[in-house]
Amino acid sequence: MPKLADYRQVAAGKVRQVYEVDDDLLLFVASDRISAYDHVLSTEIPDKGRVLTAMSVFWFERFADLAPNHLVAWDDPRIPDEVRGRALLVRRLDMVQVECVARGYLTGSGMVEYRRDGAVCGVELPEGLVEASELAEPIFTPATKAEIGAHDENVSFEHVVAQVGADLAGRLRDATLAIYGAAREYARSRGVVLADTKFEFGLDRSGALVLGDEVLTPDSSRYWPADGYAPGRVQPSFDKQYVRDWLTSDASGWDRASDTPPPPLPDDVVAATRARYVEAYERITGLSFADWPSGTS
Ligand code: ATP
Ligand code: MG
Repeated sequence: MPKLADYRQVAAGKVRQVYEVDDDLLLFVASDRISAYDHVLSTEIPDKGRVLTAMSVFWFERFADLAPNHLVAWDDPRIPDEVRGRALLVRRLDMVQVECVARGYLTGSGMVEYRRDGAVCGVELPEGLVEASELAEPIFTPATKAEIGAHDENVSFEHVVAQVGADLAGRLRDATLAIYGAAREYARSRGVVLADTKFEFGLDRSGALVLGDEVLTPDSSRYWPADGYAPGRVQPSFDKQYVRDWLTSDASGWDRASDTPPPPLPDDVVAATRARYVEAYERITGLSFADWPSGTS
């Protein structure tokens, strides 16, 4: 059995680490860390890494015909036991440096841009839209990856064309909207609104466009309960709402506007949030999380 320490770490994000297995394969490891209000919290949510990994696998497999993806294996002797269930073996790709975002609803940075410009990433939108409005058609709103600590910057489609060429830009947009559209329809049938999501694509050795990274997880997407969806206000988050509510309540004693890091989460908030992640997985996939692998250590 390999140990994680046997592999060279090649990247570390806020909540995930990437290791090199060999020339062709990477190991993608999801941690139980959670971020809220642009802070990675000091308290972890048990099983969050496994839930998000399981969800990514569900979507990769579901859309394998729609979009080739980098998944090689999720249960494999090359995956160390200590990260079993929260690590994926993936094909190494030459990543396209564009964050491919699809939005079916107006919120977040999209809402900020709409209020300022009446458009998002250069896509003109009709007047009169409000927070959480559903768009007539989902739109492609690409962003460029920011340095660690900074926000990704929304850019126009023309910017992507200038960056990667018209052909690849068109393929990124088409693939993003196709996968998002299919996932949104499916999520809706399960009682969940998939408001928006971000994909990252890479090119394989033959030049084919391949879906990489994690996909359609609560960390890369906004999921809202369909029950109670009402435009005109900020929607509750399917997964992080307990954390947000507690952090902004008097009980936390935390001032969001200050530079201080948020305090540790109380046990009941941790337990409720863990249950929400599991519920999101089970509701969306129809599978039981108890059947998903875990390590013995
Ligand atoms: P964060 O997401 O925390 O803002 P980040 O994007 O730098 O930071 P991760 O998402 O954890 O950190 O890192 C994953 C990295 O691996 C990203 O740079 C992503 O583009 C890259 N990547 C994803 N899939 C592949 C792949 N199949 N081959 C090579 N690189 C990949
Ligand atoms: Mg990332």
